[in-house]
Amino acid sequence: MENIFKRFGAARRFDRRARTEAAGSATPWRETVFVTCPKCERRAARQNWAESLYVCPNCGHYQTIGGYYRLSLIFDHGSFRELNERITAADLLHFPGYSEKLLIQKRKTGLSEAVVTATGRIDGMPVVAAVLDSRFFMGSMGTGVGEKVTLAVEYAAAKKLPLIIFSASGGARMQEGIFSLMQMAKTSAAIAKFSAGGGLFISYLTHPTTGGVTASFASLGDITLAEPGALIGFAGPRVIEQTIGQKLPDGFQRSEFLEEHGFVDQIVPRSEMRATLSKLLRLHTTAGRRHA
Ligand SMILES: [Zn+2]
Repeated sequence: MENIFKRFGAARRFDRRARTEAAGSATPWRETVFVTCPKCERRAARQNWAESLYVCPNCGHYQTIGGYYRLSLIFDHGSFRELNERITAADLLHFPGYSEKLLIQKRKTGLSEAVVTATGRIDGMPVVAAVLDSRFFMGSMGTGVGEKVTLAVEYAAAKKLPLIIFSASGGARMQEGIFSLMQMAKTSAAIAKFSAGGGLFISYLTHPTTGGVTASFASLGDITLAEPGALIGFAGPRVIEQTIGQKLPDGFQRSEFLEEHGFVDQIVPRSEMRATLSKLLRLHTTAGRRHA
């Protein structure tokens, strides 16, 4: 009985968090009825933004969305269960100012780390999902993120569930130094083991996916999807231009460019995210075959 109450409470908490995040994807959301797009600078009613899942109704620009909100867009209602919620960032090197900055990030976002990991169902098919949240330290990967992602991969392996990771990251978290870089090897090794056991890993790249995250788990998907217009690369375009002394082609490192060159399998608009994942799960998993 206690378990039912606990589950019910957790489901309500998740719904509340997803709703808060949806309305708080960018600073002015709460205060105003009309919100200006940072790209085309045209205004649209908040309600229209919400209906288009925070893609600009005028120009199609993708707003950043929170991890819980994204999960609420793909999971069957009531199926969300968070994994390792309590694992948080650690200031192992006593990096000047890091502890204070962590506190500010936690207060601002309500998150304890830059990734949310969970189990849930998509059209009745159980999956493990991780979402990097770029609102928290630019979705950078420190020990907390590496540990949560690794545990999610290991959980998927143990339960024989498909794995979906939504990446959005500025790269390794510099305040955690070499411990951050170690997470690249740790997460990659966990994925290699998961794949060797026959697990399905769908990597979904969102804006921006860069640095150590691109150079580790984000690039290891059996199937790689991307949101339209997302910046995906290792070093940013400015760094590359300065290094090679050449101007880069238009749209370099954007999803569309990477799809054309074979790095991304398919660009999937936010509105088609759940349907596309459902179709892939039906095609590639045993649970999917039962639901076909
Ligand atoms: Zn716009």
